[in-house]
Amino acid sequence: MKFGGTSVGSAARMKSVADLVLDGQVNLVVLSAMSGTTNSLVEISNYLYKKNSDGANDVINKLEVKYAKDINELYSSDEYREKGMNLIREHFNYIKSFTNNIFTVFEEKVILSQGELISTGMFNLYLQERGIKSCLLPALEYMRIDKNNEPDTAYIRENLNAQLEKNKGYEIYVTQGYICRNAFGEVDNLQRGGSDYTASLIGAALLADEIQIWTDIDGMHNNDPRFVEGTKPVDELSFDEAAELAYFGAKILHPTCVLPAKVNNIPVRLLNTMEPKAKGTLISSHQCENRIAAIAAKDNITAIKIKSGRMLLAYGFLRKVFEIFESYKTPIDMISTSEVGVSVTIDNIRHLDDIVDDLKKFGTVEVDNEQCIICIAGDFRSSNVGYASKVMDAIKEIPVRMISYGGSSHNISILIDAEDKVRTLKSLSAKLF
Ligand code: ADP
Ligand code: ASP
Ligand code: MG
Repeated sequence: MKFGGTSVGSAARMKSVADLVLDGQVNLVVLSAMSGTTNSLVEISNYLYKKNSDGANDVINKLEVKYAKDINELYSSDEYREKGMNLIREHFNYIKSFTNNIFTVFEEKVILSQGELISTGMFNLYLQERGIKSCLLPALEYMRIDKNNEPDTAYIRENLNAQLEKNKGYEIYVTQGYICRNAFGEVDNLQRGGSDYTASLIGAALLADEIQIWTDIDGMHNNDPRFVEGTKPVDELSFDEAAELAYFGAKILHPTCVLPAKVNNIPVRLLNTMEPKAKGTLISSHQCENRIAAIAAKDNITAIKIKSGRMLLAYGFLRKVFEIFESYKTPIDMISTSEVGVSVTIDNIRHLDDIVDDLKKFGTVEVDNEQCIICIAGDFRSSNVGYASKVMDAIKEIPVRMISYGGSSHNISILIDAEDKVRTLKSLSAKLF
């Protein structure tokens, strides 16, 4: 059971989470940092990079005051209030110790890890105050990424099981989302929003019956509720549909979180902490037929078009183009080809200038910034005649830069100008649902 930042965002919310995890079963509970904390830790780190210790101390002190208030509200006995205060004092003293030292990415990652260490420590103490046999499993002892920043699944399985073996007989196991160690043993993390990934890696390592992602909304909605009114939860998604939506911008799920569940065929349930009885969304291997499931949008996309006479009747051209992106470790999201050119999109523009220089060897290169990918997930098998045209009809007023269809049977992606994003999402919802 994984609970996100809003779900553990106050003393009152933590108390409701306790009610949810105490369902009579032995549960492993993954927590994010309390909402806003990781952003504050990023802010502190940014000040420390600039050697602005006054700026950093200001944010640290405000955060510490906030936590002192949470501690007071969370516990009912003086004994546990004191335990809670000691816990946060220890972490804040540690954070403050970095204001006098040199500051590098290594120190930054240690600071970023404090949010989850604090929230899990507080929650574990709260369960203990309620008389529950609760145990803290330190993620830094079992969660690890390798030299390519990929999870080291064999290590995770072995060491998580060793931790559970060492701590037998508890009712609830509480652990940190997001944080891990890297191949060099340093403190690292699974990227922003990565607590979802922690939950699915743990579910996969233990071959859990189900992975539950508890958040602040009643499941995956059929469009982005931040931009479109009247969106509705989708009862069921296949692993592939969910992965597509998460990758293309549905913030409710971290993009990488679906794969470990899919590989081990473990259902993932998206549930609402504020409305625990709501059905939510079940993500499994079952693919619903004859329906368009949901729409998502991914921002900050750059499109690159390479036009070349040399592509005509040639083989090996695309390989040469892709090798350039590979050499700069830049993933490509969408592609579309014609006989005289190829368009691709990327979201990481760190090496854009070098990539464009290298591509110019093959022909003329055009770059369009501020693009947006709209992803429509559903049953788009070619035999499902008419579904692609429903999508096209819904966006007939919108200038379209690229279309990708047929890469899989459950997705259409469309590239548009970022400024057209909201009206495109709204128009798709109005016509498709
Ligand atoms: P948590 O802190 O629990 O991980 P997030 O903020 O990361 O929660 O994700 C939940 C949020 O995702 C929702 O509050 C909602 O605004 C946003 N969201 C974006 N797209 C969708 C979607 N298709 N369905 C549901 N929520 C979405
Ligand atoms: N606390 C981390 C973040 O805010 C991880 C997470 O919440 O999933 O990004
Ligand atoms: Mg999240």
